[in-house]
Formats: sequence, C-alpha cells, structure tokens
Amino acid sequence: RHVPDEISTLLSMTQPLKLRGYQKWDIFCKAVHNIMNNPLLPADNKGVMVALRPVPGLRVEQALTLCRPNRLGDIMTIGDNRLVMFLTFCRINDLDTALNHIFPLPTADIFSNRMIWFEDKQITAEIVEMRAVTADRWNAPLPMTTDKTPVVNAVHDGHSWRRYPKPHRLTDAQGGQPQ
Ligand code: C2E
Ligand code: C2E
Repeated sequence: RHVPDEISTLLSMTQPLKLRGYQKWDIFCKAVHNIMNNPLLPADNKGVMVALRPVPGLRVEQALTLCRPNRLGDIMTIGDNRLVMFLTFCRINDLDTALNHIFPLPTADIFSNRMIWFEDKQITAEIVEMRAVTADRWNAPLPMTTDKTPVVNAVHDGHSWRRYPKPHRLTDAQGGQPQ
C-alpha cells in the first residue's frame, strides 16, 4: 500500500484546479464534480469538457500519449474507449485553440468524433453518466504515460535514497590553451 500516494490524492482532490494531466476515471469525475460545486467559480464559465473517440485503428491509450496539457487545471481520463478532458476556464469558442496547444497533431487526425459540454448543468449531468461506468470499462494508460522519470544515479540504502555524484572532467574540445 502506498499511503503517501493516497494522502496526496486526497489532498489534491480538495484542490482540483491544481491537478494537471491524466487522472484515473473516478478521480477525474470527483475533480470535475468538485469544480462544478465550487461556489467561488463563475456559473457556466468554469471550463469546457470534451469527450473524444479515436479514429479506427488507434487505441484510446495511444491517443492519450499524444495528449500533453500545459495549463494547471487541464485534466483528462480514459474509459469506455473515449478520452475525456476538462479544460479549466477555457471558453467554448476557444476549444480548438486549446486543443491545438495540447495535441502535437491536428485533432481530426487523431479523433473521429467529439462531444462537448460547457454549462454547469450539462457537465454535471455527464459526470453522473460517467460515474455509472464501472471500473472494468476504464482504460488503463500505457506505462510510458504514467511512469515517473527515474531518479538518476541514486541508490536506496535501506533507509533513504542517496545520490552518488559522478566526477566529470571538462575537456577543452576546441583544442585551445587551458587557462
Ligand atoms: P499555467 O496556467 O499552468 O500554464 C502553464 C503553461 O501552459 C504556460 O506557461 C503556457 O506555456 C501554456 N498555456 C497555458 N494556457 C495558455 C494559453 O491560454 N495560451 C497559450 N498560448 N499557452 C498557454 P507560461 O506561459 O510560462 O505561464 C506560466 C504560468 O504563468 C501559467 O501557468 C499561469 O499561472 C501564469 N500565466 C502566464 N500568462 C498568463 C495569463 O495571460 N493569464 C493568466 N491568468 N495566467 C498567466
Ligand atoms: P490564446 O493562446 O490564443 O488562447 C485563447 C484562449 O484559448 C484562452 O483564453 C483559453 O480560453 C483557451 N486556451 C488556450 N490554450 C489553453 C490551454 O492550454 N488550456 C485551457 N484550459 N485553455 C486554453 P484566455 O485564458 O483568456 O487567454 C487569452 C490569451 O492570453 C491567450 O490567447 C494567450 O495569448 C494569453 N495567455 C493566457 N494564459 C497564458 C499562459 O499561461 N501563458 C501564455 N504564454 N499566454 C497565456
């Protein structure tokens, strides 16, 4: 059991606007639910939710590897063979601009179908539908999407991680005179 992970998940759910990137289906639903129920955020202007279905031959797990949100509060999940994103504070007219920032390819090349929700009531109703999707229909991301960058050159000594610096010699590649 990874207790620290559970705590960080709980903490992050209290502040969904501080999440970014892939979230498990249930965490995603909870985060969007919390955003919709946050009275500090403007009514019907909290963001856009979009569900994208990959073109035939492309798995949703593969589409996820192309999805690179930059803005804090932009989150996505995969399940039911759809990629669902919530784009915080994005206006409906700006959806294509935002998607162009997030995907390295034109989205029409990756997805054949999309559904969009942007009013609080619509988003809330869709989240109710999404919560009814059971865990066996959630898609699991490919390992490369979730893998943390490994700690470079560190060894666990049974208590904690220690870095062992490696000496590097700076050579004079230009062949000039050393100072
Ligand atoms: P952030 O909102 O988490 O966005 C992180 C990065 O995503 C930005 O880095 C930028 O590269 C990209 N990004 C996010 N939203 C947009 C957008 O609407 N258009 C474009 N072209 N790129 C976007 P950057 O620019 O270094 O900004 C770092 C942080 O500074 C942002 O984090 C945000 O907190 C703040 N920030 C910068 N410019 C603005 C702004 O015009 N309005 C607001 N509200 N915050 C800004
Ligand atoms: P823009 O880059 O043409 O983006 C226009 C609008 O598209 C944004 O309006 C926002 O509604 C949406 N949008 C674009 N990229 C993203 C994204 O990565 N995530 C989400 N959730 N929405 C996105 P907004 O926020 O009023 O920003 C207006 C303009 O201000 C942006 O035009 C951009 O020029 C600048 N800007 C805003 N935030 C940032 C930022 O964090 N970094 C930089 N460099 N510029 C920003």
